[in-house]
Amino acid sequence: MQINDLKVQCNAIYFVAIDLLEKNGDKNEVCRKLLDAATFLVEIGKISPVDKEKSEKNARKLLDASKRLRAGEDYSSVYYFLTGKMLTPVKSQETPKVQETEIVKDLLKEKPKKEALPTPAEYSFNWDVKPAVSFDDVAGLKDVKDAVLNKVLLPLIHPELYEGYDKKNGGGLLLYGPPGTGKTMIAAAIANEIGAKFCSIGAADIITSGIGNSEKAIETLFKEARSFDCAVIFFDEIESLCPVTTHAQHARQIRSELLRQMQGLDSYGANSDKILFLIAATNKPWEIDPAFIRPGRFGTRIYVGLPDEDARLYMVKSRIERIKSAGKVIVGEINYDEIVKRTNGFNGADVTNLIDEVQEISIMRAATGGNKTLTMADFETALNKITSSAQVKDLQRLNEWREQNG
Ligand code: ADP
Repeated sequence: MQINDLKVQCNAIYFVAIDLLEKNGDKNEVCRKLLDAATFLVEIGKISPVDKEKSEKNARKLLDASKRLRAGEDYSSVYYFLTGKMLTPVKSQETPKVQETEIVKDLLKEKPKKEALPTPAEYSFNWDVKPAVSFDDVAGLKDVKDAVLNKVLLPLIHPELYEGYDKKNGGGLLLYGPPGTGKTMIAAAIANEIGAKFCSIGAADIITSGIGNSEKAIETLFKEARSFDCAVIFFDEIESLCPVTTHAQHARQIRSELLRQMQGLDSYGANSDKILFLIAATNKPWEIDPAFIRPGRFGTRIYVGLPDEDARLYMVKSRIERIKSAGKVIVGEINYDEIVKRTNGFNGADVTNLIDEVQEISIMRAATGGNKTLTMADFETALNKITSSAQVKDLQRLNEWREQNG
């Protein structure tokens, strides 16, 4: 692709991200667009030595914005961070104007920072020695836990059980399902269960740590993982790292390096005493390059769905019980049946938000001179504010994919 085409594409994608921020659009979509625009900037930097430093710096800025959003920063501060302007409420529905290559020009205009890019030898990833999440912390999802036990933990912990049978084991695990349903929790719980070091990786981490050298970053990640006796690498939103279609050379390099590193992983445990297990999560499995969802790669697929009534009850009740047992807040009569009914369609993260909101209401009352009390009325108020974030069309599409791909 010519450099000008790259700039135009980058510009267009960035505009869509900004437009989504202005219209309070879907967070995942904004992050994805920022990531795409960053990828283009990296490409531009590779082709054009003149733009290299600036475009890589700006790519990092976009990746940083995406990380801030994921970490829970609100749209207005991320918008300010990106544009230097305050976010004015919702614009009209007009489609974003893709004028000149303004953002590219604008981004490239910024004064280059003196700081050096990390050299491949300097990359290193954050490994969690023992994730503080266990299967007991994950509410419901009994079928998922059973599947993890049979398909993942048993072969990993007792490979000898499978000796002598004509059945292939190994390869990675793909957890797919709507956002906020506990996929990350399950991945961390698996690592906890097998006593593994755990590293959670998003596409932004790979691009940030290895700008212009992403394949080196992946190589380092696997090298670090192989240096441990037992390690789990968790690829969050794997579709951003291994998209089904990509024109960016950068993404193609990531793809081939990942495939290279995954080669022979299924027999890794059999050939050494070490364990390296890969888990990927996605809300959009149809966007993953099919090369990655084959046996030996992310061949074991498990659907992680919305929490059922029992799981929602467990989530609400266990947190309320914890507040009660701390003994500092007077908790009134809570109508759990009503809460379970009214949270139908909520994902796990929504239920967590609801309970956080209830506590916020209670704290605010205490802050303005009231007692530390938490009542069903607080749930009523919170339930009017917090709604399900699960999108019907996403659930339908996930179900279709599940029927076709298992
Ligand atoms: P995903 O990876 O599927 O997007 P996460 O595992 O990051 O979702 O969950 C986000 C948050 O929602 C968790 O930190 C937790 O507070 C809550 N949550 C989601 N599902 C569950 C569950 N099954 N049990 C307990 N908490 C949950």
